[in-house]
Amino acid sequence: MIRSKQIQKPQKVLVVDDQEINRDVLGVTLEENYEVIYACDGVEALEKIRENADSLSLVMLDIFMPNMDGFEVLEKMNADDELKSIPVIVLTAEKSAELKALQLGAADFITKPFDLHEVILARAGRIIELSEGRRLISSAERDKLTTLYTRSFFLEYASSLFTYHPDMHLDAIVLDIEQFHSVNALNGRDFGNSVLALIGGEIRAFLSETDGIACRYGADRFDIYCVHQDDYQALLDRLQNKVDDLSPNVRVRLRMGVKEWVEGADPVTMFDHAHAACGMARGDYKRPLMIYDENMRRMELKNQRLLNDLRAAVEEKQFTVFYQPKYNIQCDPPRLSSAEALIRWKHPELGMISPGEFVPLFEGNGLIRLVDNFVWREAAAQIAEWKKKFGVSLPVSVNISRADVVDTTLVDRLKKLVLDNGLDYREVKLEVTESAYTDNAGQLLDVVGRLRTIGFEIEMDDFGSGYSSLNTLSSMPVDVLKMDMKFVRNLENSDTDRRLVKLILDLARYLGIPVVTEGVETDGQLKILREAGCEFVQGYYFSRPLPAAEFEDLIIKEMNTERNAK
Ligand code: C2E
Ligand code: MG
Ligand code: MG
Repeated sequence: MIRSKQIQKPQKVLVVDDQEINRDVLGVTLEENYEVIYACDGVEALEKIRENADSLSLVMLDIFMPNMDGFEVLEKMNADDELKSIPVIVLTAEKSAELKALQLGAADFITKPFDLHEVILARAGRIIELSEGRRLISSAERDKLTTLYTRSFFLEYASSLFTYHPDMHLDAIVLDIEQFHSVNALNGRDFGNSVLALIGGEIRAFLSETDGIACRYGADRFDIYCVHQDDYQALLDRLQNKVDDLSPNVRVRLRMGVKEWVEGADPVTMFDHAHAACGMARGDYKRPLMIYDENMRRMELKNQRLLNDLRAAVEEKQFTVFYQPKYNIQCDPPRLSSAEALIRWKHPELGMISPGEFVPLFEGNGLIRLVDNFVWREAAAQIAEWKKKFGVSLPVSVNISRADVVDTTLVDRLKKLVLDNGLDYREVKLEVTESAYTDNAGQLLDVVGRLRTIGFEIEMDDFGSGYSSLNTLSSMPVDVLKMDMKFVRNLENSDTDRRLVKLILDLARYLGIPVVTEGVETDGQLKILREAGCEFVQGYYFSRPLPAAEFEDLIIKEMNTERNAK
């Protein structure tokens, strides 16, 4: 509801305080610009507010008063459609009262003993200006689904807290739902909405116990500005548990980024940092909570740098493809069976940068497609070249990212690549990480299904690192399993890991799916795997990833072995 008022008339302000001295101090100040009326407790205030409802521009409201306190006045105003659009500035000496008043709909507050004359006038003026015509303190400022504040309103509150109450040390928290679009796609929008409403409700419950404000931002992001908590994991757990209770069959994961208060940090920057921290928790199911710190700042700067430098890197050919062999270890001696293409970035100033650093970064914004395209082209050309040079067909697998899967031209592009290089589909294998199967299930299964129909082989990468369970494996469109390195690391010392590896190998054999074990570095690991029936191994034991020219030595060696065996 927009309150229309005649600008020419002096605006009317109600001052409510049980202390006469306070009424006088404010009155003297405000009478310079406004018509001022007074009340000395909550009951009288409500009467005056009702009487003057259509002409009142502002209420300056004390909190602690006899008969009816300021909170109750706020509650009653809030419950009344006509009164709730009248802005209220709360007068208080109690810090703890300030945020509660804000939650009850107060527009601002002034601390006692009163601020400077000019400050009071400026703030009263600003609130009136905001409420009249341009912005409203009303239900329109709340998100309908969660009843938390809207983002713009929230930011305005946050910055006024920052400006006028620099002594109030508030932390910024950003909460996000992993893959919310898939939650919606898989379970329906109603389910998605109930998740959001539930989180909103729990955040409100949390804020009623502590001081702070919150909003929903975009579809599935929540921003919270609150007094420092010692244990943010506890807050995340509390919200996660709430969501888990909603439906035992659907796993909805939350992640959280926090930027703690430091001197002079304004809310916009703080929320940027909290958001960056939250982004770094993305997809890392083991660390869903990130606190923004000095390390993260450095990482952010570096990430920014890498993002800026990507295009030049492609143009200036700073990327090269390395090849790491996979060996069949059931043969004696083991036989070179294929290779994996792995990207390398030689940055002119930063030196060699590991894909572990930039691949997740470029996956976040889809730029990885540029890199992947390059790798696929290189690898396809390389297979063709080795075929010509050595007369052997050595299949090479390339990595496919989530961002590639959502690209509708993917299938055609891969098909063209194979045909243009005169290859067989079996010669270019495609590695898709396990978590992609769980994240965007529907679309992924469709795309992978089409690729297999054409004749591509799909290897499930990093198997065991995520959440896909062994028993769903039989229904997955997969030709080869690549067992995650974590299983191998302790193979020689851990009984549990050894049993787990055996179990995976047995199951895969039962399903007729060959397994490549990654990260094999020692003789001992190799022996255990061979005895357990693992067919293929990729790891430093045989070779690190190598530039194409060096990889050729392995091909030549393999050809010699073959010749000698004959
Ligand atoms: P991945 O696909 O699981 O690749 C295997 C990684 O394990 C490679 O790391 C490889 O160098 C490393 N590795 C192999 N054997 C051993 C070993 O015995 N011990 C240890 N400690 N590590 C071993 P790299 O090359 O750093 O790549 C890391 C990840 O980056 C890859 O994991 C893959 O997810 C991604 N990646 C690499 N190249 C590309 C690419 O062209 N496109 C995309 N989308 N992702 C890529
Ligand atoms: Mg891989
Ligand atoms: Mg892998």
